[in-house]
Amino acid sequence: MNRTFPNLASTVEEMRKSMQEHYGVWVCFVGDDGDLVALGHHEPKRVLAAFNRYCRIELSMRNVADDRDVSYKEAAEILRWRHGRLITACESPDHDDEIRMGHSCHQCALLGGGGEWWLDWSNPEHPDAFPITMWQV
Ligand SMILES: [Zn+2]
Repeated sequence: MNRTFPNLASTVEEMRKSMQEHYGVWVCFVGDDGDLVALGHHEPKRVLAAFNRYCRIELSMRNVADDRDVSYKEAAEILRWRHGRLITACESPDHDDEIRMGHSCHQCALLGGGGEWWLDWSNPEHPDAFPITMWQV
């Protein structure tokens, strides 16, 4: 079960620029749907506490679900333990074809104007993949 993550240090440095640390867990929103990600695999109580505090501070939400009535069990059920890989430059195999056909490249659009990143969890076996805990709406 012990994996090593040789590139994790530089990845963490890159991601932490847009993250906040709460209760020792680095967290941020990903995408536009309210999904949250934490660096590393954490037990539900600790990562939910970090997500809750982050949502209260950043968005004045009641908690991660912005719902006073959501139970701990319900909130914990939405957590996912995955491996992600940090993408900071377009790697799409369709990039050239899309541009040639006058379309915009989906991956370029995700990356925005530069300095942005996204997480890919399509291949958890990738050597650059690292553990993440997600709250996925
Ligand atoms: Zn592209």
